[in-house]
Amino acid sequence: MILHNSFNTNEKGHLTIGGLDAVCLSREFGTPAYYLDCNAVRAMCRMYKSNFLKYFGEKSLPVYAGKALCFKGLYSIIAEEGLAADCVSSGELHTANAAGFPMDRVFFHGNNKTDADLAYAIRLGVGLIVVDGLDELAALDRIAGEAGIRQNILLRITPGIDPHTHQKIVTGNVDSKFGSAIMTGQAFDIVKAALACKNINLKGFHCHVGSQIFDIEPFSEAAEIMLAFIAKIKGETGYSAEILNIGGGFGVRYTEEDPEIDYENNIRMLGERFDSICREYGMEKPSISMEPGRSIVAAAGATLYTVGSVKEVTGFRNYVSVDGGMPDNPRYTLYQSKYTVVNAEKADAAADYECTLAGRCCESGDLLAEGIKIAKPQRGTILGVLVTGAYNYSMASNYNRIPRPPVIMIEDGKARVGVRRETFDDIIHLDI
Ligand SMILES: *Cc1c(COP(=O)(O)O)cnc(C)c1O
Repeated sequence: MILHNSFNTNEKGHLTIGGLDAVCLSREFGTPAYYLDCNAVRAMCRMYKSNFLKYFGEKSLPVYAGKALCFKGLYSIIAEEGLAADCVSSGELHTANAAGFPMDRVFFHGNNKTDADLAYAIRLGVGLIVVDGLDELAALDRIAGEAGIRQNILLRITPGIDPHTHQKIVTGNVDSKFGSAIMTGQAFDIVKAALACKNINLKGFHCHVGSQIFDIEPFSEAAEIMLAFIAKIKGETGYSAEILNIGGGFGVRYTEEDPEIDYENNIRMLGERFDSICREYGMEKPSISMEPGRSIVAAAGATLYTVGSVKEVTGFRNYVSVDGGMPDNPRYTLYQSKYTVVNAEKADAAADYECTLAGRCCESGDLLAEGIKIAKPQRGTILGVLVTGAYNYSMASNYNRIPRPPVIMIEDGKARVGVRRETFDDIIHLDI
């Protein structure tokens, strides 16, 4: 196993993804290409579902955050596994609907939904719209009225937590484009406004504290703040929230340096925390949900590239350039995110060649990793970048008019195309 169950080496010393030889896969599907081990995705869905049931209660449901990875084939899997889905744009809603996803199990997010977005969500029968602010509340009340329905909503609340320092730097998160802050009193105001809307049915509250979180502390703090808020609202208005959704953000191990994460234990500890806080306030526990995105798909994904050049800049460093880069994975360029890179043809050989992995764009910042060590490649070698299932394909662009790679779904030892490779004609398809 290399880092996660989906990655291994075979008797030829090749990297395998979901049990299939990466070199053979590259011959069949070309490079660059994204691969997704669907059995691993299903295993994570089942892990969340069974543990939420066990530790959060029978009304709780994990909500898959589609912004991590979104295409029809994946929504089919999420639907089959019985999870709900969170969409953040009409494009994601359209994808879920086209995949036959039950739209009553969809949460619709976003800090700036247009009137057209809201009308589209209502037309598709989206279960819960997560309303971000007062302007949106008024617009939704009007649009739901025009459609002759009463729309179920959650309100997005800003609890004021900075997950990166794990301290309550209250102002840090209150200053956010998302939600309504408890600290400023605006959260309370929007609750009163929502309760007064004719065409809106307030089901509860939502918050999201951040991403790539490795321990339960930020979630636990969010739970505490949100449950205290719910208790205060109950005391002052008599309104009881049915649902509390504390967002996504469970971390993923990208490299050997990242800690291993015991998801089940984290969910168990959080569940206990919810129970004890509810007991403290003498309140009935609302239906608890969370919205994992990254942790469901990241570790099931890998990207395979072909090396085009190995350039040793004397006195400086070695550049290994591949046939992809920031258009298929912008995360190093955006966040200096670290990845595990392997020579897919010598996955069990000593990783002793220090290099920078560069993309093919006309942009010096187009890098995928720096200071990594791999078995020395040459022109034509297949390289694997592991743990690319989240925020790679979903963030991909056509920068430099580079066609986007396909997404290959691997399940039970078989590979099939989930999203086909873009062609040059796709690239000019919209040009008039
Ligand atoms: C990004 C996001 C998520 C998913 O976060 P992950 O880190 O991928 O688990 C869930 N909910 C909301 C509101 C988000 O913005």
